[in-house]
Amino acid sequence: MDRHLMIDRGACAGHGLCYGAAPEIVDCDDQGDPVVVADPLPESLLDRAGSLVRGCPERALTLRVSEGHN
Ligand code: SF4
Repeated sequence: MDRHLMIDRGACAGHGLCYGAAPEIVDCDDQGDPVVVADPLPESLLDRAGSLVRGCPERALTLRVSEGHN
């Protein structure tokens, strides 16, 4: 199972809380919009990713599970 952090672009307000808190998971692009850089999420970052989901004031972040290849 792979886990992916998903960003709802329509809901995101782009204030940067997520990439300020965990740049190893979310970076920002030239427009200041968040971009997931850890995909799929390694086991070691799952807790931090969960904190980002809970901490997003716009509820724009979700965790998705997909079938992995290993
Ligand atoms: S914390 Fe949420 S609303 Fe703010 S930039 Fe990140 S995804 Fe967007």
